[in-house]
Amino acid sequence: MKRLTLSFDNGPFPDVTPGVLDVLAERGLPATFFVCGREASQASRRRILERARADGHRIGNHTLSHNIELGATDDRDAPRREIEESQQILGELAGSERLFRPYGAGGVLSPRLLSQQAANLLCDGGYSCVLWNSVPRDWEDPADWPTTALAHLHEQDWTLIVLHDVPTGAMAALPGFLDRVAEQEIEVVAEFPPECVPILEGRVVGPIDHLIAAD
Ligand SMILES: [Zn+2]
Repeated sequence: MKRLTLSFDNGPFPDVTPGVLDVLAERGLPATFFVCGREASQASRRRILERARADGHRIGNHTLSHNIELGATDDRDAPRREIEESQQILGELAGSERLFRPYGAGGVLSPRLLSQQAANLLCDGGYSCVLWNSVPRDWEDPADWPTTALAHLHEQDWTLIVLHDVPTGAMAALPGFLDRVAEQEIEVVAEFPPECVPILEGRVVGPIDHLIAAD
């Protein structure tokens, strides 16, 4: 049976995320929300994330600022801020897990994602680095991204999809997408495909050199 893991990045937004949570709750589906520390520090957004936690979803760290590619900056303090400071802001929202998803413009898996310093910090801090194997670019194609996503599901046994609970209108297509997933008897699971987690709880367990900038 094929599997699908849902993840939603760059939220939460008051006009979008509660609707996504409603859709997931109606269907009893789990997801992980990767959020930026800067946003998670705002009380109105934090309440939405508290609901996500209470609904049984996981909350991951998607950097503090969402504008520094750790493999493409000379700022030696960037890993501490973008990873650790953000994790501190998430605090209890993250539970006992330390799930980190790097910021990469456009979702491209490349050496721009991490520096060696950032990778070391993830290992020392006991983080899991959670990547993806499907980016249907819902922000560019808000109406028809499910077609792209379903093609990815067709090609792979276990898809970890990156969607965005942000105000592009794309989440209006989420129920229809999940209907198609259910019709095809694809199991929606909370766990991540191992191939998408090259660092697991601080240990390098998969190929990662292609994601780390040369010093
Ligand atoms: Zn992002």
